[in-house]
Amino acid sequence: MSPEEKVLLIPKIENGFVIDHIPAGAGGRLLHLMQRHREFDNVLITLGQHYSSRRLGRKDLLKIQANELPSRFLQHLALLMPGVTVKRIRDFKVAEKVVMETPDLVHEILRCPNPNCITNHERGMGTTFHLVERETKTFRCNHCERHFTQTALTATLNI
Ligand SMILES: [Zn+2]
Repeated sequence: MSPEEKVLLIPKIENGFVIDHIPAGAGGRLLHLMQRHREFDNVLITLGQHYSSRRLGRKDLLKIQANELPSRFLQHLALLMPGVTVKRIRDFKVAEKVVMETPDLVHEILRCPNPNCITNHERGMGTTFHLVERETKTFRCNHCERHFTQTALTATLNI
């Protein structure tokens, strides 16, 4: 089978989004994350695993038949999997394509890993983290000013 024929096996969607270039094996984690966003409750989602990719060797992809992606989900995605591509599909064609990058600011989507941080004690108090070093993906909590790596920050998501 030629590579082109293999591509045809992936069912196309008419309208929605494709999250592409997900590292192989990580698609399931992403699906789990999506289940935490209620906006996806009634949305058709297809997970493709281990497709061949020129850039990654193997990759996963998700096809989402929704009109919009919630901004909180996009924040999570950018934080967890920088490098993935989000494509908007209209009439079976790619209308827009964005490569996700580690965000400069993470606002109100994560808990602070520092148990003594005031955000863990004051009810209703949101968190904000600023990226202080892109290379190591290190963030600083706006409130306790402690530094955390992306891995430490997203560990609180428990996915
Ligand atoms: Zn903090």
